[in-house]
Amino acid sequence: MNQKMIITIDGYSSSGKSTFAQALSKKLAYSHIDTGAMYRSITLLAIRKKIFNSDLWNVKNFIPILNHLNFQFKWNKKLNQTEIFLNQENVQSEITSIEVTDKVSLIARIPEIREKLAVIQKKFGNRKGVIMEGRDIGHRILPHSELKIFMKGPIDVRAYRRYEDFQKKGKKVSYEEIRRNIFHRDMMDISRKISPLQKPIDSVEIDNTFLNIEKQLDLVLQVIDKIRKKNKI
Ligand code: C5P
Repeated sequence: MNQKMIITIDGYSSSGKSTFAQALSKKLAYSHIDTGAMYRSITLLAIRKKIFNSDLWNVKNFIPILNHLNFQFKWNKKLNQTEIFLNQENVQSEITSIEVTDKVSLIARIPEIREKLAVIQKKFGNRKGVIMEGRDIGHRILPHSELKIFMKGPIDVRAYRRYEDFQKKGKKVSYEEIRRNIFHRDMMDISRKISPLQKPIDSVEIDNTFLNIEKQLDLVLQVIDKIRKKNKI
């Protein structure tokens, strides 16, 4: 017993997926793969290469970028967070910028980019002892995972949480702007043709509006216990 599992976490923007995934990965000593950070990193590259400045930008602009992608996720003990390295560069703080956040859903709906990232994500998911979070992980990338979690919460709660994060980091952005961005990203994620945000039918749903991180951990650790007993793993 106590074999390592594959756990997926999907859900709406700012529903607390990363905070929860990091806490659970620490508790279980699993690796944490944040697929939103992968889409954000490609968005950052596109901004740096000024691809969005052209009215004519399309997927052809991305082909040279997509052929040279190397992602690594490393735990930063000091900051108590997972960080993404794109082609050996730590881009974690840059990918959370308002500019990247505003543009990422445009990148995430390009089929060629999704296909490329899906291949990389499936490779990460080949290992046991992994927690992968995103929008399409449980139903499309790792449908064979032993535990699928779906996180949600009212938009005002999610927007306020994100607003507080930005305040703490000293970033000047209004609550209304954040709420608009979250609403827009949710709409784009739900309505895109290729691998939209979807709740896997066999997932455990968590609305964490009134649940702190310890309560969420308690709940999920109980579910993990049941899965282990049921599947004898
Ligand atoms: O999770 P995070 O908010 O960092 O994700 C950024 C964006 O990346 C989302 O708004 C969504 O458009 C996209 N995304 C996606 N599929 C995933 C993960 C993220 O489309 N698996």
